[in-house]
Amino acid sequence: MATILDGKKIADMRLEILKEEIEDSGLYPRLATVIVGSDPASRMYVRMKHRACERTGIGSVGMELARDATTGQILRTVTQLNNDADIDGILIQLPLPKHVDSARVIAAVSPEKDVDGFHPFNLGLLFSGRPGFAPCTPKGIMTLLSEYHIEVAGSRAAVVGRSIDVGRPMAALLTNADATVTTCHSKTKNLPEELRHADILVSAIGNPHYITREMVRPGAVVIDVGINQVNGMLVGDVDFEQVQQVASAITPVPGGVGPMTIATLMENTYRAANGRSCNTAE
Ligand code: NAP
Repeated sequence: MATILDGKKIADMRLEILKEEIEDSGLYPRLATVIVGSDPASRMYVRMKHRACERTGIGSVGMELARDATTGQILRTVTQLNNDADIDGILIQLPLPKHVDSARVIAAVSPEKDVDGFHPFNLGLLFSGRPGFAPCTPKGIMTLLSEYHIEVAGSRAAVVGRSIDVGRPMAALLTNADATVTTCHSKTKNLPEELRHADILVSAIGNPHYITREMVRPGAVVIDVGINQVNGMLVGDVDFEQVQQVASAITPVPGGVGPMTIATLMENTYRAANGRSCNTAE
């Protein structure tokens, strides 16, 4: 049976350490969240982030714009936050409504306050293996692997999904950590064959129970990023019950990658306040 990679436990532990570090620093980091519209899932995620701020002694400011806010109106809010010396980190809750030019909004965030790591400047640093803010979900996964002493250097890794928020930065972080990485997507031919080579398999597709036991090399470490609603329950991309019988380690959903994402956002915000940037090569 696989070791369960308990993201909730590790995230709680790291938030406790961060709280103490912030107390000792004498700093009062502040995170601003920007939400457009009232999508219930987005609101829930923002609430969770504000709660994590409270736990760690980070101040939080919530900017709420109406669903029909224009790109210009959102850009003005971002500029105001960029210019606010009391704000250390800015998080734009995605997805933005379809009529909004999301790329423009993300690019408007000051790179020093881009604690989500989605600004092209920070992504450029990440893809060139240089220090900068890395996106929180893949960075949180790297932290989880490290906390469980899972050897990344020299391993074969496969990432399923090539989105700019998860799949691509995940592949970059694994590459920076000296893994040999294959990125898979919907056009990949013979996905099971690609995945069966992997020592570390990360799935970020958003398709419930898609990754089956037959796709997993015995002894592989399986990281499930997917969040899917099935009959009112949250499930991942991985068929957990089956895959845990062949994997050496596996993340649960919920309680795996999600809490690590939020803990990493808090760590990035503190680093922003500290005037330091995350080192992608860590
Ligand atoms: P996304 O932007 O929709 O990207 C999905 C990716 O999966 C695409 O690259 C797509 O390929 C690929 N894909 C879809 N079906 C596939 C298949 N059958 N075989 C191989 N590849 C396939 O999604 P995302 O933002 O990366 O998020 C992925 C999942 O992670 C979602 O369930 C999301 O809710 C979850 N998520 C969780 C967290 C967390 O903190 N736990 C954070 C972010 C996202 P193409 O590029 O070819 O279309």
